[in-house]
Amino acid sequence: MVTDHHSAEPTDRSTEQTDRSTEQADRSTEPTDRSTEQADRSAEPTDRSTEQADRSTEQTDRSTEQTDRSTEQADRSTEQASHDNAEPTTKHGTTQHRTKHRAERLGRASADAALAEIIAAQEEIFVRRQPNSAHLAQAARQHLAGGVTSSWQITAPQPVWLSHGHGSKVYDVDGNEYVDLHGGYGAALAGHAHPAIQQAIATQVTRGTHFAQPTPNAVAVARELARRFGLPRWRFANSGTEATMDAVHLMRSITGRDLIIKIEGCYHGHHDSVQVSVMPDPADAGPQHKPNSAPSSTGIPKAITDLTLIATFNDLDSVARLLSEHQDQVAGMIIEPIMMNAGIIKPQPGYLDGLKTLLHEHGALLTFDEVKTGLTVGPGGATRQQDVQPDLITLAKSLGGGVSVAAIGGTESVMNHVASGGYEMVGTFNGNPLAMAATRAMLCEVATPEAYEKIEKLRLRAAEGIEQAIAASDLTAHVVTAGAKGCVVFAKDPVTSYRGFLGVDDRYSHAHWLFQHNGGVFLPPWGKIEQWLISVQHDEADIDRLIDNFQAFARAVTGG
Ligand code: PLP
Repeated sequence: MVTDHHSAEPTDRSTEQTDRSTEQADRSTEPTDRSTEQADRSAEPTDRSTEQADRSTEQTDRSTEQTDRSTEQADRSTEQASHDNAEPTTKHGTTQHRTKHRAERLGRASADAALAEIIAAQEEIFVRRQPNSAHLAQAARQHLAGGVTSSWQITAPQPVWLSHGHGSKVYDVDGNEYVDLHGGYGAALAGHAHPAIQQAIATQVTRGTHFAQPTPNAVAVARELARRFGLPRWRFANSGTEATMDAVHLMRSITGRDLIIKIEGCYHGHHDSVQVSVMPDPADAGPQHKPNSAPSSTGIPKAITDLTLIATFNDLDSVARLLSEHQDQVAGMIIEPIMMNAGIIKPQPGYLDGLKTLLHEHGALLTFDEVKTGLTVGPGGATRQQDVQPDLITLAKSLGGGVSVAAIGGTESVMNHVASGGYEMVGTFNGNPLAMAATRAMLCEVATPEAYEKIEKLRLRAAEGIEQAIAASDLTAHVVTAGAKGCVVFAKDPVTSYRGFLGVDDRYSHAHWLFQHNGGVFLPPWGKIEQWLISVQHDEADIDRLIDNFQAFARAVTGG
C-alpha cells in the first residue's frame, strides 16, 4: 500500500507507502495548480491540454528511458555472469541462449514501458474527471493536516472527495457515480443509508446519543455476538485500534507476561504494540526464517517495539521457535485469522488450530483480530468459518452498519478477569447508545442469512467473471475471495505469507484501481494491499460493471 494507509506526513505502513505518498503529494499539487490556473485564466484550454499532453509524453519518455537503462544494465550483468560461469557447451549454443534471454528482457522492458504509459494515461483521465476534488484537496491543506482527515485518505493521483452515498453507490464532489466496493475500508457491509440503519439511528438521535451508562441494546448486541462467534462475554469500544489494544493489554494482564507474538504483514491498528512489521521494507524485515521486529511507525519507543516478536503466517514452526526461545515470557499472540492487509491470504488447514494448541501449551493466549473479517466473511467471521475458537476476538469496521463501534469478546475465564477488576476496560463512549442502536440493527436486520446468501451469489459472479477475463487475456493473475471480500492477486501462484506478497508487482494493482475508478467502480486504494467489499445492497449490475472494467484493463495491459 502505501499506507492503507499512507501519508504526506509520516505514517509508515511501508517504504512503498512513503514513496507513493511523496509522489502523490507532488502530483496532487499539479492538478490543483491546473484548476487554479483554470479559474484565473479560463480562456486558455488549448494551451493547457497541450501542456498536459506534453507532460504525459515527458513522463512516458522518462519511464521508457529508465526501462531501457535497466534493461541494458540487466543485459550487461547477465553477460558478465555468463562470462564468469563460462561453461558453454558450444559457442553457438551460448549465443543462442544469450539472444533468447536478451529478447525476453527486451520484451519485459517494453511491457514495463507500456504499463507506465497506461498508468500515466489513466491518471490523466482520473485528474481530468475530478477538478472539484483537486480544488478541495488544495483548499483543505490550510486547516487539515495534509488536506485530509486520515493519512490513508491521500490516494494517488489525488484524494477523492465524496459528496454522498446511497445503496451500493457513492458520488464524488464532481458528480461522478461509483459502484462502491471500497466500502470505507471494509466498514460498509450495510451499503449506504440502509433503511434499517437510518431508522435505528434516527430513533436513537431523538432519545439521546450519549450517557456513559449502559442501555438495553448493549445486552441484545452482546447476546447476538455470543451466538455468532461462540464467545460468551463482550465489551465495546469505538475503533479497531482500541479493540486490539484492549486485547493485547488483557493478554498481558492475565498472564503477567510482557511479550506478544504478531504476524509479519498483519495490521491491527495504530497503537504501539502492534505497529511492528506491518509492511516492513525487505531491507528491514530480516531473514525469512527469523523475521525482525521492524518498527512500522515513528514515535514508538524501541523498548516497546522489542516486546513484539514476529512470526510468519502459515508457519507453525516460527511460533514454536519464539515460544521456546522466550519460555514463560509470551503473554499471547494476535493474528488476522485470514490476512487482509496483504491482499487476502488464507490459513492453511490445521494452522489456526495448531497455533491455539501451541500457545496454550506455553500458557499463552490467542486473539483473533476479526476487525476486517468479522461480519464480512460470514455471519460468525473467520472464527466460525475456520472452526477454531480463540480466547479473544476483536471486531469493528462493518459491525456498526457505518457507525463507529468495536467489540472485544472473550472466554469465560478471560472476561472474568475484566469482571473481577483485574483489568479496567474503559472508555467514555464505549457502548454508547447511538453505536449500540446501529449495531443491533446491523446484526438483527441487515446482516441476515438472506443477505449472506445474496452476497455469496455476487461473490461467485465476480470471481468467475474476473477469472474468465484473466484466462481470455492471458494475464498473470488470480482471484482470491472470502465471503464479501475479494481481490485480484497479480501473481501466478497463491501467496501464503508476507514474503510472497512482497513479490507481487503492485503496478498492476494500481493500474487496475485506476481503470476501475475511471470506469465508475471505487475499489479501495493502495493497490495490492486491500480488497473489495460487496455490501448487502449491491446487485448483479454492480458486479458486471466491475467485470467489464476488469476486461478493459486486462485487454489494455496485455495488448489484447
Ligand atoms: N485490525 C485490522 C485487521 C484492521 O484491518 C484495522 C484497520 O484497517 C484495524 C485493526 C484498526 O481499525 P481502526 O482503523 O478502526 O482503528
